[in-house]
Amino acid sequence: MDLFEFQAKELFVAHGVPSSEGRVTDTAEGAKAIAEEIGKPVMVKAQVKVGGRGKAGGVKYAATPEEAFTHAQNILGLDIKGHIVRKLLVTEAKDIAAEYYLSFLLDRANRTYLAMCSVEGGMEIEEVAATKPDRLARIPVDAVTGVDLAFARSIAEQGHLPAEILDAAAVTIQKLWEVFTAEDATLVEVNPLVRTPDDEILALDGKVTLDGNADFRHPGHAEFADEDATDPLELKAKQHDLNYVKLDGSVGIIGNGAGLVMSTLDVVAYAGEKHGGVRPANFLDIGGGASAEVMAAGLDVILGDDQVRSVFVNVFGGITACDAVANGIVKALEMLGDSATKPLVVRLDGNKVDEGRKILADAAHPLVTSAQTMDEGADKAAQLAAAAK
Ligand code: GDP
Ligand code: MN
Repeated sequence: MDLFEFQAKELFVAHGVPSSEGRVTDTAEGAKAIAEEIGKPVMVKAQVKVGGRGKAGGVKYAATPEEAFTHAQNILGLDIKGHIVRKLLVTEAKDIAAEYYLSFLLDRANRTYLAMCSVEGGMEIEEVAATKPDRLARIPVDAVTGVDLAFARSIAEQGHLPAEILDAAAVTIQKLWEVFTAEDATLVEVNPLVRTPDDEILALDGKVTLDGNADFRHPGHAEFADEDATDPLELKAKQHDLNYVKLDGSVGIIGNGAGLVMSTLDVVAYAGEKHGGVRPANFLDIGGGASAEVMAAGLDVILGDDQVRSVFVNVFGGITACDAVANGIVKALEMLGDSATKPLVVRLDGNKVDEGRKILADAAHPLVTSAQTMDEGADKAAQLAAAAK
């Protein structure tokens, strides 16, 4: 999960990383009020989960509360690379002597953590990385030994930060490493890491990505969820504990087990080539215990996707046998009633397959077609999707 800057800074504050004080608002009046409260010049900052806000006009200096009001009016509603600004962070504007760059991230290719540091921070860091790669230090970090003060100082030194500021920088960098590990982040990026005229080292911007696999260790992270921005179908699936990913094709897919669902995607994409390039509309794993309720929730999510033209249910009966799954499908269609309108191809195999197929045959639901094999089912579903276009 990617965080907004203001959320990243909440974590910074919690771990003692020096930053600038501020508050969030969604109105120009609010921005003015916060500026009055701070009683000093402020920065008005667009809160969108995309970089380059400064260059896009989303970060402005305001000497007075009135100026903060005007900037807020201009920034709210701004489209920054497809993200509409709905929230602003208003912070005390700090004096800047120099802008550096610092990040910690997961380096998947090298199976390690990585620190990146540069004396040339600020809005042009991508250009520094491209044209002067030697100015951007890339330093592997051992997960077990981590980053102590001495190592933090060495990171700053390798990033060519000036000698007289290394000790102060080490303190802030070490605390940022604490944010990275204690919060189970996969990215903590600070650009700019600022040197003030009094040689303080502050994190004036923050980009943090939290590892969703560690959410169970951080009940507090739930409040960072940005439900406005989540696809409504993905949200609905999540509420039912379904593993759902929206794709942009037209054949809805339901299966039990991630491996089976993934191979179903492949088989449907392959079959779809014969039917004018029809493709899977989603990944949906209903897991091992496919009860009628779970099947209904899964179908409800998929049928709610306007792009879906047909649905392929591909289930291999194991502990939950095919008869239970078949009953689940029949009950799910009853529960959904008139809201189920798209053709369903069902392929059952495995434990109690004959009983399962018989239940579907006896129910004889007009929307349901049975398939004997996965290839046959994929072909049928692709054909139905193509015909419905
Ligand atoms: P980004 O463009 O999305 O990365 O947004 P930043 O938060 O990094 O802000 C962009 C630029 O605004 C920074 O590189 C700074 O030059 C400037 N800036 C941000 N905060 C302050 C501040 O407190 N004081 C001053 N003087 N400039 C700031
Ligand atoms: Mn920045």
